[in-house]
Amino acid sequence: MKWEYGTRHRRTRIVRRRLFLGIVAILVILLAGYAVMHFGPDDLKSALRKPFLKLQDPNGEGINPEGVTETGWQTEFLMDTFVSIRAVGDNADEAIEAALGEMRRIESLMSRYVPTSDVSLINRSAGGPPVKVASETFHVIEEAVQCARLTNGAFDITIGPLMDLWEFNSSGPTIPGPEEIEQAKPLVGWELIELDPENMTVRLPKEGMSIDLGGIAKGYAAQQGARVLREYGIRHALIDAGGNIVAVGSRAEGNPWRIGIRDPRGEGPEATIGPTIHLVDAAVATSGDYERFFIHDGKRYHHILNPETGMPVESVSSVTVVTESPLHADMLSTAVFVLGPDEGMRFVETLDGVSAMIVDANGNIVFSNGFPGANQ
Ligand code: ADP
Ligand code: MG
Repeated sequence: MKWEYGTRHRRTRIVRRRLFLGIVAILVILLAGYAVMHFGPDDLKSALRKPFLKLQDPNGEGINPEGVTETGWQTEFLMDTFVSIRAVGDNADEAIEAALGEMRRIESLMSRYVPTSDVSLINRSAGGPPVKVASETFHVIEEAVQCARLTNGAFDITIGPLMDLWEFNSSGPTIPGPEEIEQAKPLVGWELIELDPENMTVRLPKEGMSIDLGGIAKGYAAQQGARVLREYGIRHALIDAGGNIVAVGSRAEGNPWRIGIRDPRGEGPEATIGPTIHLVDAAVATSGDYERFFIHDGKRYHHILNPETGMPVESVSSVTVVTESPLHADMLSTAVFVLGPDEGMRFVETLDGVSAMIVDANGNIVFSNGFPGANQ
């Protein structure tokens, strides 16, 4: 008995000691991780925080040259996508926080999934009285209506009822039947939107109508994020809001930001296609059929719809637009996508300071005049 007791006692002691050493080891590992994230080399920190980027900067690491005090990099899930901001300069982290806060604020005004947003109020009030909105919401809707006019309704933010049929935001998207689409079609039409600039109100005249700023709001948010960074004195930064990229200035050492365009049929976000875009104080946005999609019977169904048919656009895989305004880049990439390669390119050629690259459904690449790096 005594001997048995002794063995057990010793075993218990050994188990306890192992347990203690195990806990110490875990603590050491945790402490080391914490130290790396806070004091470690920027390259390592960046690698650990590397977000899922649609467009990525191949020369992204090591942007913090001698003499520049701070480099910040943060990623946040916002507006149904990953938003990442990299900034160089004094109080970079504080500036990024403020920019992300601004982008959150815009989401709370313009998302149709936030019940208190301006857009939700407008949609709930469809068929009823006009809704007073923030001047920013009004401005974005005005821009969208202008784009609808220029594209004969290819870009149409009253696409809401058709988007709802596809349920891309649910776990199991569905292919709507032709009758459902026919029923929804009369509720789609940008000409129906009633805008009153004096009272800053928006009205949708038919019950069941709804607007969806999914093709434009991320660009606007990124634009405002960049404005906030500049207000904080940041002169070198890059914002990526789900493929809507805004360059504030150049990289810290003076070279332009370098942006790769995601290959729509490549393996993951790192596979690129076409030229590397050099960007200083400008924006680039890509709309792709790989962003939100499902495959049924070997056919791809995605979230950019032709308002006339209610079906996903089939002639294009991705559109990249480069221009100064991030809002325009986002809006136009969706609009050109719906117009298709031929009409889309003709449209881009009519716009000053806008260039585009289209990857059509067969993988052919077409450039408009002036697309950066097209002749590399
Ligand atoms: P992503 O949101 O993936 O970056 P886009 O900027 O191209 O891609 O926007 C696609 C979104 O635009 C859709 O999820 C939907 O909210 C909206 N949308 C779809 N079709 C149209 C259309 N014809 N006109 C305007 N907006 C559209
Ligand atoms: Mg867009």
